This record gives sequence, C-alpha cells and structure tokens, in this order.
Amino acid sequence: MTHVIAADIGGTNIRLAIVDPQGQIIAESRLQADLSRHSESSQTMAESHVIKVLAEAIKPFASRHQVSRMGMGFPGFFHGQSGLLASSPNLPLLQNFALADRLADALDLHVVVENDALCAAIGEQKYGAGQGCANLLHITLGTGIGSGLILNNWPYSGEHGMAMEFGHLCIEHHNGRLCGCGNHGCVEAYASATAVIKRFNEICQCEIPDAKSIFEQARQGHACAVTITNEAGQYLGMSIAEAVKLLDVTTITISGGLTGGWDILYPSLKCELDNNLIPPLKGKVEVLRSRLDDNAGLLGAAVIAGRG
Ligand SMILES: [Zn+2]
Repeated sequence: MTHVIAADIGGTNIRLAIVDPQGQIIAESRLQADLSRHSESSQTMAESHVIKVLAEAIKPFASRHQVSRMGMGFPGFFHGQSGLLASSPNLPLLQNFALADRLADALDLHVVVENDALCAAIGEQKYGAGQGCANLLHITLGTGIGSGLILNNWPYSGEHGMAMEFGHLCIEHHNGRLCGCGNHGCVEAYASATAVIKRFNEICQCEIPDAKSIFEQARQGHACAVTITNEAGQYLGMSIAEAVKLLDVTTITISGGLTGGWDILYPSLKCELDNNLIPPLKGKVEVLRSRLDDNAGLLGAAVIAGRG
C-alpha cells in the first residue's frame, strides 16, 4: 500500500487529499467548482464539462504529490463497483456515464468511484465510530440526508445503486412536506439542516442562515429552537427504527453539519428510536456520532482507491 489521492465531490465544491496507508491526511485542498453548469444541452456536452472541471481541479494536485491511484465519492448512483454512473439527481443529463474510466483516461491514474454517502460509510467503518462493525448504517445529515450501508463488511448499493435512500423514507403520510425528490413526507424534509433552518425561520419569522445558530439558541433556552431540534431528533429516531426493522443492524453512525447539535438532538432521537423498535431490539441499537467530522467521505475514498 502506498499514498493515494482521495476526492470528495459536492454540488459546488471539491475536496482533495493525499492519504497515507494508515488513514492520515497529509495534504489537503478545497476548490470551488460547478459541475452542474446549465448551458449544456446534450449528454455528450455535460459529460465533457464534468470531466474537464474534475481534471482541471485534480491534475495539478495529483502531479504535485506523484500518486498513481485515486478514490472518489461522487453524488450519484453507480452500477455495482463498475464506476458506471447510472444517474445523478443534480446532473440529470448524465445517464450510464463511464465516469471512472473517463477520469482514468483524463488523469492517467487508476480511478475508483463510489456514491458519496457509501464512501462516508466505508470511511466510518475503517477509521471512525463504526470501526470493527461488520454491519453498519451510516447517515450523513447535511443540506440533504444520505446514507450508506455495509453488510458483512461489504458496501451494499443495491440493484441500481439506489439502496438505502434513507433520506426519502416516508415518515409523514398525510399532508407531508414536499421533498426535493418530488415526493411528500420524506425524512429529509423534516430532519436535514435545510429543513430545520426552514422550519425555524418560518415559525420565528427570521432569517437565520445555519443550523449552528439554531443549536446555540436552543442551548440558551429558546423554546422554538429547542422544539424544532427535538422534532428533528424524533423524526430521525423514528426513521432509524424503520430501517432497523428491515436490516437488523445494531450500530448506526451519523456525520454531517447537524451533528453540531448532538447534545440536543440525540436524547429525542434515542427516545423515539427505542419507542419504535420492535421489542426484542429495544435498547440494543447504538447511534453514534461520527469520529471523523466531515472527513468520513474523504477517508472512504482513500479506502476504495486500493480496489482493483
Ligand atoms: Zn424525498
């Protein structure tokens, strides 16, 4: 094993790191980049744009550090471990796109690509709070809600790369809030950072820009901030219980911006989880805050760089 390059691709930013065989990040770079420029009118143009943006960002970093392998977490659905992107919600023109192969050609590197939330699960299992767990459900709580599942030490992505769309579990069947996916009542519309901020601003008629400020207000006893944070925790606990009914995993790890309010979020989450679990599992499911902060995805990308 040698040093590898790890990449975590977001909607408007790219994080790159050089990671050593022990999982230490020894160099890092953050860049702004827009993969979803809207001027493309065809799949071919959209593909070329994505490869151009990624190659321009990664090439100088890779050549500075003389690495030969790269792992990448990308927001989209992949066919198995092929690196073939089936689709991506933010980049609708890309369908069945050979992302890993095209990047490998453009960068002259061995490239392995995986769904971003699944990468975070892989990182959390190898280096974080999920260490030693053969089965792990990892949830990313940010502007949206993603999740990745490890079963018997194997990253499980489903038939179409769409397994564990945890954020789109339906938790409110009557007059549920509209979700970004087009359905109503998804957990993402109740417990993502975006949902918490929107709800707070609606009720308190203010314009608070981030969840961190809401948590600070909750700690100072602001009743509305406490209620909304508790509600998000309850919805999360309820939906984790539903996932556990299907999967019987006993360790769940959570990363992302909303974990900044863990002290307020966790008690209501845990209470609602235990209320909703089937009786034999009550009290046996552990929900842990990530130990990797926002590096879970990057470290997972470093792990998959060693594949193939
Ligand atoms: Zn949804």
